[in-house]
Amino acid sequence: MGEIPMNQGQCIFCGIVTGALPAATLYEDDATLAFMDINPLADGHCLVIPKAHCEDLLTAGDDVAALVGQTTARVARAVKTALQPDGLNVFQANGVAAGQTVFHLHFHILPRFVDDHFTIQFHGNPTSNREHLATIARRIEQALP
Ligand code: 5GP
Ligand code: ZN
Repeated sequence: MGEIPMNQGQCIFCGIVTGALPAATLYEDDATLAFMDINPLADGHCLVIPKAHCEDLLTAGDDVAALVGQTTARVARAVKTALQPDGLNVFQANGVAAGQTVFHLHFHILPRFVDDHFTIQFHGNPTSNREHLATIARRIEQALP
């Protein structure tokens, strides 16, 4: 791998990649890094990032997305083995409206327990009909690269 593009001095996670900022690292390879979230929602809450700076999943290339996805799956399996949670969420935010606060692509790995009282709620629109769903599907399909 060539030189890793960094957003030095501006990005907390680039600072963790370079070692300028401390982190409890648990996995590292040429392209990706995993470390504990500083404000864990549960024991084992950790983050997986690409070493090269990119803002979010929408601006990451296919290669980066694939490598981060692979590391996320591997770390998720290790969290499951090590901590034996009842379940596990993986999530990832793109943009302020989606709750993103650090603008360097990251996947959260969040161990879940039956009585953890942490809720992710979806308030779906029950009026969606199949014709509308098909229309939206076509719009997205046409936008695929
Ligand atoms: P987001 O809200 O962007 O999806 O998640 C950003 C996450 O980064 C938050 O869960 C937050 O606790 C974590 N975080 C922010 N600053 C630091 C830091 O300096 N070190 C670590 N390890 N995690 C951080
Ligand atoms: Zn960065």
